Amino acid sequence: MLSTHYAVTGNVAVISLDHPPVNGLALAARQGLLRDVTRALESSEIGSIVLTGNGRIFSAGADITEFGTPDALAEPSLRTLIEALEDAPKPVVAAIDGVCFGGGLELALGAHYRVAAAAARIALPEVKLGLVPGAGGTQRLPRVLGLRAAADMITDGAARTAAVLAELPGQKLLDLVVDTDVESAAVRFAESLGNSVPLPRIRDLTVDRDEDLAPLRATLAKRGRGLRAPLVALDLVEQARGPFSDGTSAERAAFTQLVDDGQSAGLRHAFFAERAAQNVPGVTKDTTARTVSKVAVVGAGTMGTGIAMNFLNAGIPVALSESSREALLRGVATIRRTYEAQVEKGRLAYTAFVDRMSLLETSLEYADLASCDLVIEAVFEDMDVKRAVFTELDAVMKPGAILASNTSTLDIDLIAEFTRRPSDVVGLHFFSPANVMSLLEIVRPKKVSDEVLATALEVARRIGKVPVVAGVCDGFIGNRMLARYRRAADDLLEAGASPGQIDSAIEQFGYAMGPYRASDLSGGDIGWAVRKRQYLENPDVRRNEIADELCEMGRFGQKTGAGWYDYEDGRRDAVPSPVVAELLASYYQRNGIRPQSYSAESIVQRLVFSLVDEGARILEEGIALRASDIDVVYIAGYGFPRYRGGPMYYAETVGLSTVEAALRADGIEPAPLLVELARDGRTFD
Ligand code: NAD
Repeated sequence: MLSTHYAVTGNVAVISLDHPPVNGLALAARQGLLRDVTRALESSEIGSIVLTGNGRIFSAGADITEFGTPDALAEPSLRTLIEALEDAPKPVVAAIDGVCFGGGLELALGAHYRVAAAAARIALPEVKLGLVPGAGGTQRLPRVLGLRAAADMITDGAARTAAVLAELPGQKLLDLVVDTDVESAAVRFAESLGNSVPLPRIRDLTVDRDEDLAPLRATLAKRGRGLRAPLVALDLVEQARGPFSDGTSAERAAFTQLVDDGQSAGLRHAFFAERAAQNVPGVTKDTTARTVSKVAVVGAGTMGTGIAMNFLNAGIPVALSESSREALLRGVATIRRTYEAQVEKGRLAYTAFVDRMSLLETSLEYADLASCDLVIEAVFEDMDVKRAVFTELDAVMKPGAILASNTSTLDIDLIAEFTRRPSDVVGLHFFSPANVMSLLEIVRPKKVSDEVLATALEVARRIGKVPVVAGVCDGFIGNRMLARYRRAADDLLEAGASPGQIDSAIEQFGYAMGPYRASDLSGGDIGWAVRKRQYLENPDVRRNEIADELCEMGRFGQKTGAGWYDYEDGRRDAVPSPVVAELLASYYQRNGIRPQSYSAESIVQRLVFSLVDEGARILEEGIALRASDIDVVYIAGYGFPRYRGGPMYYAETVGLSTVEAALRADGIEPAPLLVELARDGRTFD
């Protein structure tokens, strides 16, 4: 079965891609297109061709499931197809609706004309998989958008609407943008062309403005944290200044090189891992998710306000509830301020801001929440407070409402027992800032129903979160591993490494921020409060003397102008601190420690392998369903470099026996699962 349709309207051949769900350009689609284009060119009744996609989607590009199979390389290749369009003696018009990504856009760039729906989303997202466009995209797009606009689009991989692209000065990408049916507009456009020759070919255009791409290069080098593809893409865009064929040869060579690059493999792993995380045992196609049309959020502090914004942003009404009027007003003011700042920066339309605020209700009474379909609790992290809140919610919420807690550390199985409906209680663990961070840990208490889990997954999808299901344990997946990572960093500190050495090693590895800079940003007082409580509860718990001493000096980080680093004149630049150096020196002396020196590589190993070891335990205990879920948590929630695929995947690329040996060398008895897999030469998944 070839995945295209051929129809004739007047003297226009309408060729539609029909390869659900997103008209991916798999072999059957490419073969169908070539057959239909040939047929239209051979028919004396046909004057022009319109290329479109069924289901109001043009094409989302290459079929990613074909990757690495012989079909991916089989003819007709996308390049062959594009040449056939571009060289066609009859006009070819691409009718772009819905989504036009990657190879789909490259195909449309091979057409002589492009008509698009204003809302159609257009992108070359290859860099997100560590690749560059491989079928002329890096050479044709600069010729129609100009160097800078094309470079922005190719290096960030993000989608722009046709309406936005049509506004770019001097753009030749879109010939017509319509709010009506694209296909019929394209047919009319094709009919209006008559026998105009020669047909315009993008490859024949030259880049007319010489824009300086050096500032973009500097930004990419800084932000990419070692990611290669955007810089390679930029080099290719620069080549569009020269002859077309030189540019496409360079593009082909770069593409081939990047496909075999470890970074692309890591990014592809991350992509598939996010998909796999949505498969949860017990939740099948037949599990019906409950309808969620209104959400209540209890507690309007740091997390509650961020959580509420997720729903408002998605057009879902929210009732925000607090224990005091003051706290409620503060919460609403936080939400308003966040949106106002976005409006000021031009990131949010004023009308959208008004719409979002109009979806927000406030309440000081539990009874007001009764009709909500989902309630998310984000009150103080204290079991007695949680008990009080869940008892009240249980009393008022309508039957079938889902009761969720955002707790980070408390036992949700116990929280569920505060209600008479434990099967409706689930953990929805958002990360701070909750309106920004994409991770959502869905914590699965023992008694929760599959229907509630299915609803949680569906809610995550609607608000654009990356969900991962975790079992109940202290810290769930992410924070439990983070504690090990922090412990590993502190061990190094106590043995002689400086905060600067540790941070810069892990930042070189690709993290946005090392543990000490991160602590200075979030505030050392938070961890200190937790530690003080632990010391009281358990006098035998290992003390973190250095961090405690730092806090006793009032050095809480950026907010106090000093922490693990100094921050001069309210600036955010972390400057190595002589006070901290002194504090460490006296710690070593007091404890008779001869400070060791560590290579950046050994620091990274210590930190990352501690994550892997804890991850293996989490997997063994069934807290995570699969190793790749742990990778998703670390990439989406903790700044692990995406191109390294996550800690568990990274461990596999290094070799599990290497990880095991390194852990033992550091005096750590590795997780039994890790030992077993290393012995058998197996991997985690
Ligand atoms: P917060 O102190 O900023 O906010 C808590 C809010 O709850 C306050 O505004 C308080 O007035 C309100 N509140 C207290 N008791 C209440 C009651 N009975 N009814 C209604 N409102 C009540 O705390 P936060 O940082 O937003 O944390 C809230 C929850 O989210 C905690 O369980 C915490 O563990 C969890 N969490 C926090 C983070 C984080 O980084 N801050 C991340 C993930 C999860």
